[in-house]
Amino acid sequence: PGPQLPHDPSKKSVVVVGSGWAATAFLKNLDTSDYNVTVISPRNFFLFTPLLPSVAVGTLASNSILQPIRYLTRHKSRRVTVIEAEAKSVDPVAKTITFADETEVQGEVSSTTIPFDYLIYAVGAETQTFGIPGVKEHASFMKEIQDAEKFKRRFMDCIESAGFPGQSKEEIERLLHMVVVGGGPTGIELSGELHDFLEDDLKSWYPELSNNVKITVIEALPSVLPMFSRELIDYTVSTFKESKIDILTGTMVKEIKEKSVVLQMPDKTMKEVPVGLVVWAGGNKARAVSVDLMSRLPDAQKNKRGITVDDHLRMAGTDGTIFAVGDCTSTQYAPTAQVASQQGVYLARMFKQLAKRDALLEEIVAAKLQETSTESLEKQHAKAEKLRPFHYSHQGSLAYIGSEKAIADLEFFHHKFSSGGVATFLFWRSAYLSTLFSLRNRVLVATDWLKVKLFGRDLSRD
Ligand code: FAD
Ligand code: NAD
Repeated sequence: PGPQLPHDPSKKSVVVVGSGWAATAFLKNLDTSDYNVTVISPRNFFLFTPLLPSVAVGTLASNSILQPIRYLTRHKSRRVTVIEAEAKSVDPVAKTITFADETEVQGEVSSTTIPFDYLIYAVGAETQTFGIPGVKEHASFMKEIQDAEKFKRRFMDCIESAGFPGQSKEEIERLLHMVVVGGGPTGIELSGELHDFLEDDLKSWYPELSNNVKITVIEALPSVLPMFSRELIDYTVSTFKESKIDILTGTMVKEIKEKSVVLQMPDKTMKEVPVGLVVWAGGNKARAVSVDLMSRLPDAQKNKRGITVDDHLRMAGTDGTIFAVGDCTSTQYAPTAQVASQQGVYLARMFKQLAKRDALLEEIVAAKLQETSTESLEKQHAKAEKLRPFHYSHQGSLAYIGSEKAIADLEFFHHKFSSGGVATFLFWRSAYLSTLFSLRNRVLVATDWLKVKLFGRDLSRD
């Protein structure tokens, strides 16, 4: 009956759900000789999300920011099983997980349930649409690699259609109006990248059309980038003004139609604006599988935004066997890669201690059977029982805003430091280059940047 999961009965089974920031940080740092480890994720790769907007405009190739998860697991001390599948449900009482292969090609078996001793639940979040009509049907998202690829295809489609002979002026303006919904970092970075694409490439390739390209950012709140300091928000707004990117704050998208967006303006009047392409970057919400898991523990899981955990990242309401990390949780921290990866590293360290604790417990039982002294073992066990709570260390916030400028709110030795401009852009590039997953990714990204400098972005629509 097919390949079996690696199972050493003397070790506990850890199932890791997801292959994003939190899960890979955990796997990178876990000593797999202590556990039977299985990874379940519908994506058999890790995606470096901070550079996703660069893929959307063709500055980077998709593969440059992806790394197969097996690249990581095959170097571990004991075999780790990777299963490309989507978790469908988790039973926190029976301690089982049910998952299914939802890809185009499936074998005779495509769904199963397995038990776990520990579950590392790191499925991330999905894009929040607030049920606004037309978002799913007509907008592009900016969360997964397919979203960036789809965006690039649609964007080039708008340009080529605008160049079709006989197109009216109004239709050209509509097709070339790009609307970005959400003035969070995703929306702002994408708008900045779009502006670069326009300035660096489209102006020379499509001189007759480029002047009609218009980028508008729509934000419901009174300000964009609320997580940055006032000074950097103002710097971003003035850079966007120079770049001719319109920012409409206090404006809410109420509906997206095939060729227009319906806006509620700050004075509450409604306005319908023609658009060629809409990107939706409206924030996060819990995935259906997380909502289902939370509904099984209604007394402890009351927060709809995500899973409630204690300060050791144990899911509230469970007996300490399910740990939740990253964007699937709702904590005092922002849903960022920084938080997710620090949580993954913390848990891997904790799992080293848990393995030590469990091994000591077995030694105590054996010593008692042999009627030898357990005093020293019990002292060590008591020490291993003391688990340190998770502590987040904020390294600062960094975002690219286009025109080779970036903004950074950094913290050095508890001192806050804000900067924006070209030097920050170089810092942004070097910081991301050094945090990429592997040397392979670093070489590919650096080569892509060089290629764009020499030959411009690739305009072919695949
Ligand atoms: P993810 O990285 O999203 O990983 C979730 C994993 O779970 C994925 O592998 C997914 O395939 C898998 N999964 C999904 N459903 C299931 C299921 N049913 N069963 C099993 N597995 C499942 N943060 C920063 O700190 N700095 C940045 O510069 C930054 N830039 C960003 C740019 C963009 C465009 C975006 C979208 C986000 C950015 N973020 C940034 C936020 C950051 O990406 C997230 O906070 C981070 O990805 C959260 O990590 P995670 O592991 O919780 O989730
Ligand atoms: P976000 O939640 O930060 O921003 C979404 C924005 O969309 C909000 O400001 C919201 O008011 C707005 N919005 C929602 N519905 C709207 C509507 N109908 N009309 C108009 N505006 C609407 O989401 P994000 O930008 O995708 O970021 C998600 C997380 O990822 C955040 O924690 C962020 O810090 C992190 N992130 C960080 C970076 C970085 O550090 N460079 C980059 C991208 C994402």
